[in-house]
Amino acid sequence: MSEVVVRGSAPVRAGTIYALGRNYAEHAREMGAPAEPVVFLMPASALAFAPAPGAAVEIAWPEGSAEVHHEVELVLLLGAGGTGLTRAEGEAAIAAVGLGIDLTARDLQAHAKAKGQPWARSKGFPGAAPVSEFVPRDALRLPWGGIDLSLAVGGALRQSDRAASMLLDPPAIVAQLSRWFALEPGDLVFTGTPAGVGPIGPGEEAVARSAALGLELRVRMATR
Ligand code: ZN
Repeated sequence: MSEVVVRGSAPVRAGTIYALGRNYAEHAREMGAPAEPVVFLMPASALAFAPAPGAAVEIAWPEGSAEVHHEVELVLLLGAGGTGLTRAEGEAAIAAVGLGIDLTARDLQAHAKAKGQPWARSKGFPGAAPVSEFVPRDALRLPWGGIDLSLAVGGALRQSDRAASMLLDPPAIVAQLSRWFALEPGDLVFTGTPAGVGPIGPGEEAVARSAALGLELRVRMATR
C-alpha cells in the first residue's frame, strides 16, 4: 500500500494514478508527436518515496531496459472525486500539489509505440513514479500558471518551465479526466512534462525542484 505524504496533515492512501502525455507543446514537438494530450495509467506500486527527508530515492533498473528518461512533472492529489466535473469542480477537487518524476524506459516505450502496444511496462515498473511530499492547495498563493518546475542531472539543468506552458491546466485536466473516468479521493494525476527530457544513466542523480512549491525531489538510478 502506498501512502502519500501531505505537509501538515495525515498521509493519504494513493488510488489510481493518471498521467498525461504531450501536455506541453514543446515536449510534444521534441517527441515528434502531435500537441494533443493523451492519458495513460500507472499502478500505485510504481510510486516511490524518499527514505528520509532530503534523501535520494533509489531506483532499480527496469527489466529489459537500458535507457531510462526523466520527465519532471507537477502531480495533483485529489481530495474529492466524481464524474462530469465542471472546471470549478475540478479545481475544488485538487487537495494538494507535489513534484514527481515520470521515469520512462524509453527503449521499451519506443518498441511498444512501434508495435501499437500499451505503455504499461515502460511507465509502470517499480519506482517509475517517485514523488515528493505534497503541499496543500490552500497553502499556495500563486495562480496555477505561476508554479515552476525544473530538473537537473548531475548538476546540469535539463528541464525548466512553468505550468503556464501546459496545454490543459490542472483544473481543466481534472474536469477532462472526469468525463472519461470515475475519479476518487486519493487519485494522483501526473500532469505532463516540459521539454528537455533525456537519459539518466547508471549511478546518476536527478534533482527536481519547484521554488513556488518549496519542494525538492532527488532520485538516483542504480548502477548496473
Ligand atoms: Zn510523463
